[in-house]
Amino acid sequence: MTKAAFIGLGQMGAPMARNLLRHGHHLQVYDLNPQAVAALAAEGAQPGSSPAEAARGAEVVITMLPDGQRVREVLLGAQGVTQTLAPGALVVEMSTIHPRESDALAQAMAAQGFSFMDAPVGRTSAHAVAGTLLILAGGTPEQVSRAAPLLRCMGDTLVEAGGPGRGIRIKIVNNYMSIALNALSAEAAVLCEALGLPLETALAVMGQTAAGRGHFTTSWPDKVLKGDLTPAFMIDLAHKDLGLALDIGSQLRVPLPLGAAARELYSQARAQGRGRQDWSALLEQVRAAAGRDHHSA
Ligand code: NAD
Repeated sequence: MTKAAFIGLGQMGAPMARNLLRHGHHLQVYDLNPQAVAALAAEGAQPGSSPAEAARGAEVVITMLPDGQRVREVLLGAQGVTQTLAPGALVVEMSTIHPRESDALAQAMAAQGFSFMDAPVGRTSAHAVAGTLLILAGGTPEQVSRAAPLLRCMGDTLVEAGGPGRGIRIKIVNNYMSIALNALSAEAAVLCEALGLPLETALAVMGQTAAGRGHFTTSWPDKVLKGDLTPAFMIDLAHKDLGLALDIGSQLRVPLPLGAAARELYSQARAQGRGRQDWSALLEQVRAAAGRDHHSA
């Protein structure tokens, strides 16, 4: 059993804290919202009147707050965690904040002799309730192993991101991809609707292909990630198919801004002589556009 403090009992934090209680950990809690504190107190947590009070005597302090400014206040403010934190305690920052802010906090905490790690989460509040979050642990191996017994109460997948600051960085990249993919998926769904295709059909098809399953796990592993650009499906054909969809969208007056931008990337790849390469070579094209060859990745 760990003596832990949990600060930030919102949509995510409240169920995460609840799962720690359920696993028998001793929990001191704080939130600006007294009702959120009262709800956890009714389930056995000790209410704190400030971050400093919640952190008093804790071995591990977890923060789950809206943004970096709030995390800074909660840790370093006048009533902040560092006012009472034991020197040997570990702060586990689980919010989604800018990596620059996370790095600055790690530095400020270290300057005061405190241990700080980033461990943001993937998935949603439903997973927070079920205790099945994806936890992206950025910390030293020692920090991760100290935090792991608590993290495993809140999530069913713990990824060691490779060192301090890397959890929040992979979290931001993951969100970049899934948020942008949400927009591309919406374009595809509206194109289906305009064509009179039932969404059930789209679900049945896209669930089987790179469209729904993603390229990291389907088209890339055996091709570009192994340096093999011989075509399973070539750039020229992908460019042609994207053009067919854009033409239909234009005919049906469905704007497809992301698809149009993607076609320009395929056009660039063709212009660079990649037309007969595998479509996964788009990764190399984007690397080249960023001035990074594949060895510097
Ligand atoms: P939320 O707004 O529901 O909860 C934030 C909580 O922090 C609130 O209860 C609020 O009262 C409290 N709070 C704000 N300032 C405070 C302060 N100074 N001191 C103490 N408490 C304070 O937000 P959420 O959905 O729980 O998200 C929390 C973090 O988790 C965010 O960084 C978010 O980006 C991230 N996240 C959210 C989801 C999701 O699906 N909601 C998924 C993954 C990550």
